[in-house]
Amino acid sequence: MIYFVSGTGTGVGKTVATGLAARDLARRGVDAITVKMVQTGDAGFSEDVEEHRRLAGGGPFPEDAAGLTAPQVFAFPASPLLAAELEGRRVDFSAIDRAVAACAEAHSVVLVEGAGGLAVPLDGETLAIDFAAARGWPLVLVADGRLGAINHTLLSLEAVKARGMALAGVVHVEAPAGTDPRIDADAERAVRRALERDFPGVPLVRLPRFDVSSGTVPDVDFSPIFASKGPDGPSAGAGAGGADAARSAADLDWDRRKIWHPYASLGTPPPVFEAVRGLGAEVELADGTRLVDAVASWWSVAHGHDHPAIVEAVKRQASRMTHVMFGGFTHEPAVALSRRLAAIAPEGLDNVFFADSGSIAVEVASKMAVQYQRALGRPERCKLLALRGGYHGDTAGAMALSDPDGMHVLFRGIMPKHFFADKPSVPFDGEWDDACLASVERAFDEHGGEIAAAICEPVFQAANAMWFYHPRFLRGLRRICDERGALLVYDEIAAGLWRTGRRWAHEHAGDGAAPDILCTGKALTGGAMTLAAVLASDRVAGTISGGRPSAFMHGPTFMANPLACAAACASLDLFAASDYAEKARRIERAFRTGLEPLRGAPNVADVRVLGAAGVVELVSPPAPEDVRRVILETGIWLRPFAGFVYSIPPFVVSDSQLSRICEAIRAVAALPPGPPPDDPDFHE
Ligand SMILES: *Cc1c(COP(=O)(O)O)cnc(C)c1O
Repeated sequence: MIYFVSGTGTGVGKTVATGLAARDLARRGVDAITVKMVQTGDAGFSEDVEEHRRLAGGGPFPEDAAGLTAPQVFAFPASPLLAAELEGRRVDFSAIDRAVAACAEAHSVVLVEGAGGLAVPLDGETLAIDFAAARGWPLVLVADGRLGAINHTLLSLEAVKARGMALAGVVHVEAPAGTDPRIDADAERAVRRALERDFPGVPLVRLPRFDVSSGTVPDVDFSPIFASKGPDGPSAGAGAGGADAARSAADLDWDRRKIWHPYASLGTPPPVFEAVRGLGAEVELADGTRLVDAVASWWSVAHGHDHPAIVEAVKRQASRMTHVMFGGFTHEPAVALSRRLAAIAPEGLDNVFFADSGSIAVEVASKMAVQYQRALGRPERCKLLALRGGYHGDTAGAMALSDPDGMHVLFRGIMPKHFFADKPSVPFDGEWDDACLASVERAFDEHGGEIAAAICEPVFQAANAMWFYHPRFLRGLRRICDERGALLVYDEIAAGLWRTGRRWAHEHAGDGAAPDILCTGKALTGGAMTLAAVLASDRVAGTISGGRPSAFMHGPTFMANPLACAAACASLDLFAASDYAEKARRIERAFRTGLEPLRGAPNVADVRVLGAAGVVELVSPPAPEDVRRVILETGIWLRPFAGFVYSIPPFVVSDSQLSRICEAIRAVAALPPGPPPDDPDFHE
């Protein structure tokens, strides 16, 4: 978790506040480090290091410069712009990014300390606040209580609001000795009012003035700022005793008797954990236990649980408008999201339909394909061609496109009938063989006149097969669809948004593999809320519009829900703000190191790693009770299904969490085979 710490001006006590925050985090067992974004005045830097060292009291800071690093130091104490100019240099943004990224890999909290106030110029165009806002770093604003402070603080908050930046909290530093206490109280009151109005729920922490050189350092509780947002801090739920524990037990009992969980029986319900709080890569349970979410809550929580930028965006939207019907209305979050999607969509796929979930997105894409063919005068083309081993969702239309073996028998009566081609058999890095496409060709030979579109999960068949296949398959599929007059639909709900190391998984295939329609979901809102989107080309949109009816015939009640759109905008801003290809590579390296050694182990059929996903296929799945024991012993949440034990973690997972995940997967792989399941386990 990375925070940006800025003052409302120079000399308000930013360095002391940052040092105390790091010290408080460390006291509570959180591994925190401070990065000074740009240091101007190199003498100042050694003073800051000294100050940090004193605050830490030789305590739990890492040895390197008492937990303080600065990627760039300029000698002259002035704005970074001027200080750099005087040395004939420029502030090197990438040096800052590299330093922060390196710290974020090794520590769970990084406090990036700005230089002076928010509107400090870093170069000719970029102010410090722009730099931080672009990276999605939530802000900790340090203000003080002296005369004139109200103006600086409220203007700073205005700037934060204008940029839609997430505000983690305000630190109010008591006015210097000799200030009339009423002036200090007035300043604090003004800030509290501004927070209530514009940033409801954002905490203010009061910092007493003290003399750093005196050797006595006050213990300040920063947990209101870092509690709900940072990876630590005591919470209402943590270590629940007495009344909380009784409430929790009663809830679990009710849950067990009355609430269905996914693919679970109400007669013999599997045990569940009560989660109370999300903390980056971790989830905290009612008893205070923390589990690393190695499956990113079904692959959705890309940026970590309750990322402050997303929480803040939802709060901000909630304070204005939670919902309005999309029939006859539009709103800023929907437009903003569709612009963001257009900017990252595959070439030309900038017409968007917002759906409420992944399954619905697949239904919508199917209906688009059918209406498209109908508009071309081919109403008999009303079926799709899907792949064996695929998974597209749980509603009837999406189930009907998922692997036809398994649960399909149960629901045959309500499912439309489609056509299937073989699962692409050549692995991702295997040797390509055109024979892989033979069954697609055959399906079109036999049923081409009825096929409106082909649909597949590009490169990564996730929830059914956990299989990475050769990207060349997609180029072949594209060519065949073109030859046969069918559309090509990619379901990137699981694989899209950098999971396989590319923004879209089909990008692995290079040119000549672009879809006509693309579905995205899961990580779209960073896992904060349910939302999916269907992106269509102008050809698809234009052809449908030219048909009868000209309207596209779908429109759910909660279409384009503003809260969900706001969450998705914040999530896509986070994706845009840093290098997710590199983040995926880091996770891929960890899985290769940690999982490859399992190859050839007894009970291990295969090990597969691509991007930020690692899969171990077992010969026989272990007993659920045994898996649960491993989860509790290792503190790693895994959710194996069928014979697959895998991790698709949040991208913010730390290196040490990654090695613990691999250790837990190895422990599961070493478990004895469990009893055969009484029901076939179709998917998660
Ligand atoms: C999860 C998933 C879906 C279904 O999404 P829901 O939001 O669960 O309805 C569809 N397709 C793929 C590839 C998925 O992984």
